[in-house]
Amino acid sequence: MSAIIMDGRAVAKAWKEKLAEQVAQKKRMGVTPHLAVVLVGENPASQVYVRNKENACHKAGIRSTVIRLDETCAQEELENVVRALNADDSVHGILVQLPLPGHLDEARVLALINPDKDVDGFHAMNSGRLMNGQPRFVPCTPLGVMKLLEAYDIPVEGKHAVVIGRSNIVGKPMAMLLLAQNATVTICHSRTQNLDEITRQADILVAAVGKPGFVKPSMVKPGAVVIDVGINRVDGKIVGDVAPEAAEVAGFLTPVPGGVGQMTIAMLLANTLEAAQ
Ligand code: NAD
Repeated sequence: MSAIIMDGRAVAKAWKEKLAEQVAQKKRMGVTPHLAVVLVGENPASQVYVRNKENACHKAGIRSTVIRLDETCAQEELENVVRALNADDSVHGILVQLPLPGHLDEARVLALINPDKDVDGFHAMNSGRLMNGQPRFVPCTPLGVMKLLEAYDIPVEGKHAVVIGRSNIVGKPMAMLLLAQNATVTICHSRTQNLDEITRQADILVAAVGKPGFVKPSMVKPGAVVIDVGINRVDGKIVGDVAPEAAEVAGFLTPVPGGVGQMTIAMLLANTLEAAQ
């Protein structure tokens, strides 16, 4: 069996085109959706992500402002920037690019973002709402995964979904979204025992581990839908968490690059537009 490769690029493109139309409509009503991104330091991966976000905003007609702060910036300086963005009525979405340099308190900064402008969906108010079944801003990567499943008409209800990874950014919200769609969800993590046995039961397997080639073909149930969230740099190349040979066992597989990453950016645009509504 050879898996159907899920074309995140194509699905994201369709989303971006639809969103660009909605942005244009919003602008005709006198409102330009505006995303402010705060980037602290010189982390090369973060710089690439921020540039990609800027380009995507530009193409969709969304105004974007990037506030760059020095690697050594003090907690108070960063918090003052967030406060100023909260108070600026022209800014609809605020995103603080993670990870922050080690001396900064990430949780405190995220808690300071106005939940109505929290387009990353990392504020406790928004994660709580997702947990309560009243989602507002949902983290872009797991939201993108759900939209990709939807685009391929993949049923979720009643399926056994296994999520490897329990981060606040991907694993936990991913599990919540699958649960909200009536999947039976298992969350696995670094302390999970007999991981292979569990993953082999998955109708839908989501890998969000951050280890290249972590999911081996032997861990995949024949015909399963395998979603590779991982972004790992190996010898200058971007690879996922799923070994390419898993395509011989899976029914569906997302490529890296060209899979979930594309959807993440599309969902950021969607959340920014939503914040401007
Ligand atoms: P993280 O480091 O916060 O979490 C990794 C998770 O993997 C942890 O919960 C940990 O328990 C689990 N894990 C580690 N080793 C394990 C093991 N041996 N067995 C089982 N579980 C194990 O990372 P994250 O922020 O959740 O990101 C995960 C991956 O997704 C990274 O590669 C990241 O770059 C990528 N990512 C991609 C996008 C995208 O747009 N495609 C967005 C965010 C993150």
